[in-house]
Amino acid sequence: MMTTDARTNRAGAGNTQAQADLYRPASSILELRSVSCAYEPARPAVHDISFLAREGEILCLLGPSGCGKTTILRAIAGFEPVRSGEIFLSGRLVSSSGHTIPTEERHVGMVFQEYALFPHLRVADNIAFGLRHLSKGERRNRVQEMLCLTGLEGFERRYPHELSGGQQQRVALSRALVQNPVVLLLDEPFSNLDPDMASRMRQELHVLLRRMKTTTILVTHDHDEAFAMADRIAVLNKGALEQMDTPEQIYHVPATPFVADFVGQADFIPGQVRSGTVHTELGEFPDTLQSAEGASVVVMIRPDDIHAVPDRSAGSRIVARQFRGSENLYTIRLPSGQLVHSSESSTSVYQEGAAVELRVSATHTVIFREAPPA
Ligand code: ADP
Ligand code: MG
Repeated sequence: MMTTDARTNRAGAGNTQAQADLYRPASSILELRSVSCAYEPARPAVHDISFLAREGEILCLLGPSGCGKTTILRAIAGFEPVRSGEIFLSGRLVSSSGHTIPTEERHVGMVFQEYALFPHLRVADNIAFGLRHLSKGERRNRVQEMLCLTGLEGFERRYPHELSGGQQQRVALSRALVQNPVVLLLDEPFSNLDPDMASRMRQELHVLLRRMKTTTILVTHDHDEAFAMADRIAVLNKGALEQMDTPEQIYHVPATPFVADFVGQADFIPGQVRSGTVHTELGEFPDTLQSAEGASVVVMIRPDDIHAVPDRSAGSRIVARQFRGSENLYTIRLPSGQLVHSSESSTSVYQEGAAVELRVSATHTVIFREAPPA
């Protein structure tokens, strides 16, 4: 079983703040214990997932398409039964094998990829939809408050088709938040927006969630989005939880080669352990894994740790340059043929084929037993 605790220090580096956070007793709003879900008996879509979300926290489920993110959200919402394990909301058992409390009783808010607004209802009525148990005056006040918080004042009489994508998303959010959900579930909420709009909505949503102190589970396949939004990130791969940590720890101290590779540009350099040191083509690194003498390992290096300096006598060659505005990302071939990447300033322009010497400053290298599958 891979729990939030079990993954600790698989990468071998210090991690004390995150550990302290994990062990500190905190009021848990949502807890999954060894949850598995399967659409077909032989192939679990989600396997043995355990994590908890604390009150007011923004937690991101991050992973490639098909890794089980939506299935987890659907299980939390009560749309999907669990094969094994338990889900607790505010301490109450809501899902276990053969037992699923209906969605209406869970008090979760949901915004899915397609916002699923009611096309025949005006904005105000879309938002008020779940408030029928309240008096008319109370309903109007709550809707007005939400319109104000999400910047939709003046749009209350419009129909969904008269709104932009960003405005439709605000309506969907308002409709979910107006009910004061125990937890807000967001499934790739920015994927239908153009990049500019998505970035603006991300910032707006972050401010709004902080102000409302709403516990949120945000699903995304985009690590930049997870980094920008999350207090903690759960990285998923093939239905299993690989690591749960702060964005900084996920990036700098990835627990597995998959995480290292998924959350940013990473190169994996083979090395051999001799007397506690890993010897590689790019130099020597301390062996944090305490491997046996002669063991083969790989060193994960990010491009900002590799600095290329033109030098005619050097054996490495520039293969390609990718201009990224604020930086140049170089692909460089080492004498052995291994490719690595180097991030240089946006004004450092070198030609393809140029010989460069590589200087490595190991600020966030991590030693693994093996490279991720290609
Ligand atoms: P994600 O949201 O991370 O892209 P999903 O949770 O949608 O992943 O899917 C996880 C796995 O379950 C995938 O292999 C997907 O093909 C499968 N799956 C999802 N929904 C269904 C379904 N309704 N019936 C059968 N298989 C499904
Ligand atoms: Mg999905």
